[in-house]
Amino acid sequence: MPEPRTLLAVHAHPDDECISTGGILARYAAEGVRTVLVTCTDGAVGEISDPALATPENLAEVRSRELDESVRVLRVSRLVKLGYRDSGMAGTADNDDPRSFAQSSFEEALERVVRVVREEQPRVVVTYDERGGYGHPDHVRAHRVAVAAFEAAGDAGRFPAAGPAWSASKLYYAVVPRSAMRAMGERMRAAGIEAPFREIREDEDMPFGVPDERVTTFVDVSKYIADKRASLVAHRTQMGADQFFMRIPESLFGDIFGRETFQRVVGSGPVPEDDLFAGL
Ligand SMILES: [Zn+2]
Repeated sequence: MPEPRTLLAVHAHPDDECISTGGILARYAAEGVRTVLVTCTDGAVGEISDPALATPENLAEVRSRELDESVRVLRVSRLVKLGYRDSGMAGTADNDDPRSFAQSSFEEALERVVRVVREEQPRVVVTYDERGGYGHPDHVRAHRVAVAAFEAAGDAGRFPAAGPAWSASKLYYAVVPRSAMRAMGERMRAAGIEAPFREIREDEDMPFGVPDERVTTFVDVSKYIADKRASLVAHRTQMGADQFFMRIPESLFGDIFGRETFQRVVGSGPVPEDDLFAGL
């Protein structure tokens, strides 16, 4: 019997699974990999694209159902909702809410993700980089929890009640090279769409993208682009017609989002590589 291959992705909000990892989730599921998604928060502070869809009071509930639909489209094997309250952006009142993910017990979230790692025994774990992609407090915390869980799950002395130790083989950060962000802006402007990334600089303060040399892994997900877009569309409260991703015509969507890129942080073998399971 071949060892079953499992991929674990740790994300902050409902809908974060789509853009940076929707393609790999769909592709690896189609290739027989067991895929597991941990979503840390309830998205209660998100947008409401249409008041007919949700109210601020029931947004978390509505987004929970949208997430269910997204993972159905991506054929995710198991979805784990940690259910912390969305922390909102830094500096807002939501960010100080004691129920928020940002204010919650780090150790508690860590133990819960360690338990998932030990139950699922993934070879590959994917999360955000140290800036959470763009600095959202929930993304930064999801990164910290995921990286700590990757380490702690393999240490039998930590959280012994959370199951027998398991060491995953590879850890990746989903990152976008700045050259790809520039190319995206150019493609969008050429198509007459206003791109939010007018100037992608190479300095430390630049919130979007990473220097190209950090990117080790380029995965072709072009065959799964329809699933990736459909998973995004499932998040109806977030994806109004004015929303940036929704303004990208379907014909251009594949050009821009048909490749997902990662930084390999733990794992060995030659780079660049084109498969998260390369060498396993
Ligand atoms: Zn998010």
